[in-house]
Amino acid sequence: MNICSKTFATKSLTKFIAAVGLAVCLLLPVAAQAESERPHIVATTGMVADLVRAVAGDRAEVEALMGEGVDPHLFKPTRSDTVKLLRADAVFISGLHLEGKMTAAFDRLRESGKPVVALGDAVPKERLLSPPEFEGAHDPHIWMDVGIWASTLPAIRDGLARLDPAGTETYARNADAYGAELARLDAYARRILASIPGKARVLVTAHDAFNYLGRAYGIEVRGIQGISTESEAGLRVIEELAALLADRGVPAVFPETSVSDRNVRALVEGAGARGHRVTLGGALFSDAMGAPGSYEGTYIGMIDHNVTTIARALGGEAPADGFQGKLALAQR
Ligand SMILES: [Zn+2]
Repeated sequence: MNICSKTFATKSLTKFIAAVGLAVCLLLPVAAQAESERPHIVATTGMVADLVRAVAGDRAEVEALMGEGVDPHLFKPTRSDTVKLLRADAVFISGLHLEGKMTAAFDRLRESGKPVVALGDAVPKERLLSPPEFEGAHDPHIWMDVGIWASTLPAIRDGLARLDPAGTETYARNADAYGAELARLDAYARRILASIPGKARVLVTAHDAFNYLGRAYGIEVRGIQGISTESEAGLRVIEELAALLADRGVPAVFPETSVSDRNVRALVEGAGARGHRVTLGGALFSDAMGAPGSYEGTYIGMIDHNVTTIARALGGEAPADGFQGKLALAQR
């Protein structure tokens, strides 16, 4: 006996309660149906999923393929990931070859007529970085510049509206509201990163994920590994960077949560051998967000963590609880 039939079998209930119960029972199947009819979106990285969720609100289900600490350059979809991609109503990706091992899978999805929205394609070419060693391709780490990432909101809004025209107004409203929140985050990042003393304005990280951040907020950026974690860092690069840290008196270097910290530690030793003490400035979220359900497991939390950690470790002024009082960085 389910809850609904039980309600009507209980004779002590007043007619009023029975009427309400009947109404609820009649409405339940409708609600359940609406639930299953919500568009199901699969996103590749957590950053993409978070952005799509902010626009979709509760009108669509959004699932990320890659979780905490997963490196998108190396990610290969498993059989169950492929099933998720095939079953999705639309797939949202970061693009610009970030998901380098998934190119063939995206091509197959597009050939089958599945909407595949690449956020990188929504960014005007003149705003993209084109490093010479990346021959003809663009640096894919566009989420590191909050302004650029926010500029992809209209592509998400329109992609969702095509799937669910009845939600057009909601998507537009959500995209505008989230865009305003990102503008505040962008202003915070600009303000606190500007407080780092001039000579120490060098951000050294495990791989080259922060060039957009460097350009947007005026910090020199050096990665030990290249743009993609597929390439190996040479001893020569570590020696050069150790010399740079010592010359400029840079106090900290930064590991990343989705990349091995082996090279960063070698660099700290290299600088030490030159008589310059460098600390590990706290792991940054580069190509993956933090744990699901945590503040750092959101795009805003991830960027807040990064810019606040960088500013504090390099001698700038930033609150330990970050942009909106939700961070919990240890006092240094
Ligand atoms: Zn990367």
